[in-house]
Amino acid sequence: MEYAVLGGGALGLQAAYRLASAGQKVMVFEREELAGGLASGFQIDDVWLDKFYHHIFRSDKTVIALIEELGLGKLLEWQHPQTVSLIDSKTYQLDSPMSLLRFQPLNMYERIRMGVALAYLKIANPNWLEGKRAHPWLESWMGAHGYEMVFKPLLTGKYGAVYDQISLPWFWARIHDRTAQLGYLRGGFQLVYNTLADRITRQGGKILFNTTVEKVEQLDGRWQVETSQGKWSFDRVISTLPTRLTCKIVPELPQDYRQRYEWGQAYGAHCLILAVDRKLTDSYWINVCDQGYPFTCMVEHTNLRAAAEYGDRHLIYLGNYRAMDDRLFKMSKDEVMKEFVPHLKKIVPDFCDAWITESWMFAAPYAQPIVTTDYREHIPPLHTPLENLWVANMFQVYPHDRGQNYSLELAEQLVKQIL
Ligand SMILES: Cc1cc2nc3c(=O)[nH]c(=O)nc-3n(C[C@H](O)[C@H](O)[C@H](O)COP(=O)(O)OP(=O)(O)OC[C@H]3O[C@@H](n4cnc5c(N)ncnc54)[C@H](O)[C@@H]3O)c2cc1C
Repeated sequence: MEYAVLGGGALGLQAAYRLASAGQKVMVFEREELAGGLASGFQIDDVWLDKFYHHIFRSDKTVIALIEELGLGKLLEWQHPQTVSLIDSKTYQLDSPMSLLRFQPLNMYERIRMGVALAYLKIANPNWLEGKRAHPWLESWMGAHGYEMVFKPLLTGKYGAVYDQISLPWFWARIHDRTAQLGYLRGGFQLVYNTLADRITRQGGKILFNTTVEKVEQLDGRWQVETSQGKWSFDRVISTLPTRLTCKIVPELPQDYRQRYEWGQAYGAHCLILAVDRKLTDSYWINVCDQGYPFTCMVEHTNLRAAAEYGDRHLIYLGNYRAMDDRLFKMSKDEVMKEFVPHLKKIVPDFCDAWITESWMFAAPYAQPIVTTDYREHIPPLHTPLENLWVANMFQVYPHDRGQNYSLELAEQLVKQIL
């Protein structure tokens, strides 16, 4: 069988790898110039740095197994870096039950109440929570003060005005799936995707980079894939693009399918990355719970990895999720720096612009599905109503938050279903 795989991110590459390993002919179409999609990186000297901050959890079994299978296991290293919340211009560690017990912004009763709510989510079955919204549930279980201080800013940071519509099972997954230990692949997650791409081609598959798929239609009992670089014909097509984009490029998808699944909104992701000449804080991750900052998190990557791996650069991500038509996505890097950098002085009082030695900026559309309570109803099945056309994308991993692990897991599930 000849397969077209649309998209060369984690999901598309893993599906193509499994198909090629099973002796199928595969061709992957990827719009960008390199593999990895949202998890891809860029080069700093001879190492890759993720365009968007990435780490994995101990519970991410599928990605850990793949890293081992690809012979990269020796590069996977685990740490317990510090995660803190920025509240009233001060940072407080909040990344374990012990740190919650010591969490000064709340009184002991509020800490215990928050701990009980989080412990319940750790063990709850998500089906018990389906149909409920995170906002009222967290407010009533944790109490308004604790919720408003810690978790409401996280929800508003990620989801903006619709923060109160977000489904509780999605929040459950954030607590249930995550571990305090974080894993990182020395040299960058790009190595996983370069190795996958290499394995695919060594098994006879093809990957076309810089190739945007524009239209997919049935022709003489086969699927024709029309791209910016030409047309090819296949027996079967797997689209790993967001369902909305798949609907756009496959005009034959029926109306009732579109009504149900061409649904919902997603935010884009934006990261400004700064290289500075010194360590800024002791924390890996700072959740910005204070109002008035133009970014929702500050991630000091070199508190997870050694600055020496990046030529002694200390690397800081300033991250955001925003509506895809937000002004941030139209701003130049200089404009963003002018707006963001002064706020660093509030976190690191003696911060000085001259410490910045380099900067980069990345943005991606369809990076965070907006998981409202009716989201589950609108997740498409893997097979579409059109024969030999499959849709598998990170919008289907709900209630889990999108993550490399879940895209890889879905790819495994898809290939099992197909073969
Ligand atoms: C800010 C941020 C932080 C994250 N942090 C983590 C983390 O810490 N840990 C973790 O595991 N995950 C994290 N993730 C999530 C992780 O990156 C994704 O879940 C995963 O990479 C999704 O892979 P995918 O293949 O499903 O989708 P994508 O990576 O989106 O792949 C889809 C591919 O399709 C391509 N494409 C789109 N349109 C076309 C077209 N018309 N023609 C051809 N190609 C096309 C895209 O270029 C892309 O390569 C993060 C994501 C973001 C945005």
